Amino acid sequence: MIGRQDALVVIDATLTFMPGGGLAVQGGDKVIAPIKRILPLFPEDKRVFTLDVHEVGHISFASSYVDLPNFYVLTYEEVAQWTKEDSKIGPKAKFTVDDLKLYLRRIHHQTLWPDHGLGKEAGKHQAFAEYDGVVVRKGLEPTRDSYSAVRDNAGRELVLLPIIKQMRPKKIFVCGLVYRYCVGWTALDLADLGYQVTVVKDATQDLGDEAGHEEMNMFFKTAGVRLTTTRELIG
Ligand SMILES: [Zn+2]
Repeated sequence: MIGRQDALVVIDATLTFMPGGGLAVQGGDKVIAPIKRILPLFPEDKRVFTLDVHEVGHISFASSYVDLPNFYVLTYEEVAQWTKEDSKIGPKAKFTVDDLKLYLRRIHHQTLWPDHGLGKEAGKHQAFAEYDGVVVRKGLEPTRDSYSAVRDNAGRELVLLPIIKQMRPKKIFVCGLVYRYCVGWTALDLADLGYQVTVVKDATQDLGDEAGHEEMNMFFKTAGVRLTTTRELIG
């Protein structure tokens, strides 16, 4: 099923999304074993590890604001009235009111996350230390969040795109964290570019509720993104 020209993209399988991490997903560490099983199936020059890396003051952090809790959904309507003198942007923020308005005008809403992707938590997981591959960082731009590693939430192209183009893969397999966010958006963007994309489902983890999971499955179906399992890949 896997050829020499096929690529594997391991999305954000870092400590920050695993139990104990800044934005821990229940069972996030369960992706490690299945990913390690499929990594050897791909040549080193066809493996990519993406990392979600931020600095304090990022536009997606609740801690960049005053009196807004984690997981609050900030909308353009809410910030439209904010001014330089009167806003909920806190002292740590590395963006301005104008940056925020411009960003939310494009994407309409942004979930405010707990601090994550900081320091060692954001690095390549030591479980994958022996597996070489290209490392791609996203999220370093303080004025934009980025779920997809192909383009950020406001549509600007990111570094995964030229890397994938250079690899010229026949098929791209995607795994990692989290199914409905960074895995899903990356898979959809790659499919949108014309690649044949398959998500290795048991090498991913999603949040608990079914509705968001089914919504991403529907997007996958519409975009032609396929699903497979590590068992099928290993054959
Ligand atoms: Zn992030």
